[in-house]
Amino acid sequence: MSNVHTKSTKVFALYLDKDFTRTEELAIYNAARLWERATNNMIKFVFKKTEVDFDPILFMSQNVIWRGSPKDGRLLIFETVVVGGEILGFAPPHKYIVLVPERTDSLLHFQKIAAHELGHHIGLLHTPAIMDSGSKSPCISKHDLIQFCDKYSCNLHEVRASCFDYIESN
Ligand SMILES: [Zn+2]
Repeated sequence: MSNVHTKSTKVFALYLDKDFTRTEELAIYNAARLWERATNNMIKFVFKKTEVDFDPILFMSQNVIWRGSPKDGRLLIFETVVVGGEILGFAPPHKYIVLVPERTDSLLHFQKIAAHELGHHIGLLHTPAIMDSGSKSPCISKHDLIQFCDKYSCNLHEVRASCFDYIESN
């Protein structure tokens, strides 16, 4: 008899806007891998690239990551109608994600925003560190994981605080 407890993996599938650059795509994948690593693969993200030009108002019921651009009037409409202010990223739980790479300072900053919004996507609220509202930390901390384990019924010894370990320069 074995008392090894095998956790099931919860898979989150997201469509990726065709407008992301390859570098931005890789940053989003890195952000996803950080969550997978920190949660010991209790979470898995699957990305599907698409050629569809998502409309930010119409896609809201879908699991899509939309690349918002300050030059794209649709971002302003979205911010006016939905958010009520200028954003770097936005994500209601279990729904769409908006990322605005042109408003981030660096690739690391973009990667942190992506990780933060993926955290909201899996249902997390604001806590230090990656889920801090300012997204200043490059780490999924114990605080983030306490919240995660509350929600996903795990123990802290099953997860591990994790930081971005390789940062590509811009
Ligand atoms: Zn947030």
